[in-house]
Amino acid sequence: MTVKPKILIIEDEPNIASFMSTILSANDYAVLRAANGADGLMMASSHCPEVILLDLGLPDMDGKEIIRNIRQWSQMPIIVVSARTQEYDKVEALDLGADDYVTKPFGTSELLARVRTALRHARTSSLDGTMAQTGKFTAGPLVVDFDKRHVYVDGRDAKLTQNEFRIVALLAKHAGRVLTYDMLLKAVWGPNGSSDNQILRVNMANIRRKIEENPGKPQFIFTEMGVGYRMVEGD
Ligand code: CA
Repeated sequence: MTVKPKILIIEDEPNIASFMSTILSANDYAVLRAANGADGLMMASSHCPEVILLDLGLPDMDGKEIIRNIRQWSQMPIIVVSARTQEYDKVEALDLGADDYVTKPFGTSELLARVRTALRHARTSSLDGTMAQTGKFTAGPLVVDFDKRHVYVDGRDAKLTQNEFRIVALLAKHAGRVLTYDMLLKAVWGPNGSSDNQILRVNMANIRRKIEENPGKPQFIFTEMGVGYRMVEGD
């Protein structure tokens, strides 16, 4: 008998909670449910779920308080379930330590993909098995060589600048997950560097020109509107 991964849903809207619960149960996850923040925190600490799906607008507390609380004692993956009206909250939640988000209304495949990515990242460190062994991230024709600090497309060196490489390497190490503008800016330009997204957009435009066949329709690095960027899952 296999042990099913435990997913805790903290969501006060019964319809959405049931929808997620049904999908996850049907895909062999063990589902736990909490309809408010206090119960959610209690269940998170007593059941230690593999993944938490967290609504930000809860009746008794702001979902961000839950992220702050949990991050004091655990790195368990937290996927924020947000409404379109919570764009700003979503970014703040990611910066507080949430791993990813889905925006309501979302589909079955999107929810399952986010959960799978979160589970995989929880099992492996930032450099996963293959990446640790080969020192490379590969997605189709794209190869990020962490040791040589070069990016290749179809075997051709994309000739990225130092900062462009650092952006691509960071996204590749977290492939499948969204990284916020703030995370990328801090990681590449330092905590006292620019907080102006424009510098990032300029770098991203150059990166895309160098690695994407059609920079207007990227196949490797996707824009998450108003949030940040996401690298495609590796092979
Ligand atoms: Ca709610």
